[in-house]
Amino acid sequence: MKRLAVLGHPVAHSRSPAMHNAALAELGLGGEWRYEAIDLAPDELEPRVRAMEGEGVAGANVTVPHKGAALSLADTLSETAREIGAANTLSFAAGEIHADNTDAQGLLDALPTSPAGKRSLVLGAGGAARAVVWALLREGAEVDVWNRTPSRAQHLCEELGGRPVESNPMDIRFYDLIVNSTSVGLRDEDTFAELPFAASDLEAKHTVVDLVYSGCPSQLLTIAAHVGASYVGGLEILVRQGALSLEIWTGRSAPLDVMRDAARARRRI
Ligand code: NAP
Repeated sequence: MKRLAVLGHPVAHSRSPAMHNAALAELGLGGEWRYEAIDLAPDELEPRVRAMEGEGVAGANVTVPHKGAALSLADTLSETAREIGAANTLSFAAGEIHADNTDAQGLLDALPTSPAGKRSLVLGAGGAARAVVWALLREGAEVDVWNRTPSRAQHLCEELGGRPVESNPMDIRFYDLIVNSTSVGLRDEDTFAELPFAASDLEAKHTVVDLVYSGCPSQLLTIAAHVGASYVGGLEILVRQGALSLEIWTGRSAPLDVMRDAARARRRI
């Protein structure tokens, strides 16, 4: 049995095991591969990851709070992971750990149209925002970054590019694409009390992306749909990044519809 896993802390809530096990079953690999969630506190990460190949683990997704640490553990890095400064996909083979980042391409794959030339506002400056900013800049978008703590947006832009913006409230009429990569919406807070614009500022011309996927659709996406804007939810981005990781490990094309259904239903297969 080849093992795959998601490593996080906490990780019990993860939809990745349901999504990946459904995909493995669809590909006829369910008898050979199994995907599980492994909860690792930060001080447990390094020794456990170094032992994984010996435990039959072929690959792992990495989630909060380990994406930065996973990068520094790896023997080899993809250029994407190195430039973003975070890894969400590890592969174990021949005594080496290889780190990749599929979050950036996962976002791009989920967008309805290319962001090239689009005026984009990225909300947030944490781990998820790094992949978003990197991906949008690589595709030729103009990127402004707003964060509740402005110094973090400044720091992110110094490292990756983009322009930090501070105003709150801000005029969002200028933007084509708005990406929420904060954790606002994860709990029951009022999204528009935390973000720098009001629900009434959203227009049909906007494309709105919300990385949060716990409440689907989120308050932000509910308003986006209401005003006729196009929108993408965090679940679709989760599916797209997971599909790319699965392709790295198995070399097979991922069954997107099956992964999407399983992630939505959170089926345990
Ligand atoms: P993180 O590194 O902890 O960053 C959290 C970000 O949210 C920071 O920019 C933080 O601002 C901001 N924030 C938190 N509470 C806020 C509030 N009340 N008002 C305004 N801003 C607030 O987390 P992360 O890894 O970037 O993840 C962010 C979100 O993206 C999470 O909900 C995560 O589940 C989601 N995500 C989804 C996917 C997917 O595949 N769909 C992938 C990765 C992440 P400060 O700097 O001011 O604290």
